[in-house]
Amino acid sequence: MIALVEKFCGTLLGTHTGDALGMPLEGASPGSIQKNYGQVREMLDARLGVGTYTDDTEMMIALAESLVRCRGVNGADLAQAYLENFNPLRGYGAGTRKALELLRSGVSWEEAGKRVFEQGSYGNGASMRIAPVGCLYSRDLEKLKEAVHLSSVITHAHPWGEEGALLQAYAVALAVQADPWQEIDVDHFLASLESVLDEGSPFREKLQAMQRLLPGEPGIEEVVLELGNDSRTVTSVPAAIFSFLKNAADFEETVVYAVGLGGDTDTIAAMAGAIAGGFHGKPAIPERWLTRLERGAKGADYIERLARELYDLYTDFYPHA
Ligand SMILES: [Mg+2]
Repeated sequence: MIALVEKFCGTLLGTHTGDALGMPLEGASPGSIQKNYGQVREMLDARLGVGTYTDDTEMMIALAESLVRCRGVNGADLAQAYLENFNPLRGYGAGTRKALELLRSGVSWEEAGKRVFEQGSYGNGASMRIAPVGCLYSRDLEKLKEAVHLSSVITHAHPWGEEGALLQAYAVALAVQADPWQEIDVDHFLASLESVLDEGSPFREKLQAMQRLLPGEPGIEEVVLELGNDSRTVTSVPAAIFSFLKNAADFEETVVYAVGLGGDTDTIAAMAGAIAGGFHGKPAIPERWLTRLERGAKGADYIERLARELYDLYTDFYPHA
């Protein structure tokens, strides 16, 4: 059995790893990735250098810091953490930038996300950062739901923005609590995910599409046609979950597959990396990738430290786990 603390480390470092592997291909079509690289198995040079992360990991760091500091989600503290960690060079989405501007101008954390677009953003900004919530509340679905809501609404108040984050958080939770030496029961995994969705949820048909696609050998084009690969939650979260379920036996294959889907590659691979890292644990992340991850004040070593602090908090919450 792999120690749970290694799974927490795998989740957070899996996010960084997927984010860094995917970032240089952001916006590329699956066909052009295939043509130019075949499969992307090595860290390529990126905007901010090889192994650097984007907004996905930066916001995940803010969320983990605030969870540890406040022993759970505290909206006001978390909003402040998002603001303090914000580095525009990391490539934030339009909705999140708008919400952060509103927060900076004094709008409350409960309000900011609601004033973005008509009904709030349904981009994947709340999903991409949610991994620490998936770890911390992996044994308590009700607490997980509440934490997803409070951490998402600050920037992504649209019901789909939040539901995508819930789906991603729960996928991480299921992976963290699963035994990596046993094959994943795909039907059970998908049924569990479905159980948290609203009645008319647009994610339902995506889960059904996954069920159809998984037993066969669908080409990338077919998968992208069915699930999508853009920055909306309704496409990118299913794409990430599918990448994991299709390649559940191997962390590297999961993340390489996710990047190969093209589109919002950094976020899809970051989310797929979080689930696979939570399932397999840190030792499954290839050493040649780990050594290339950015260091510095809030680099990979810091992220691992946060994961360990999050685990300490988890053991306080669930001493007999
Ligand atoms: Mg990004």
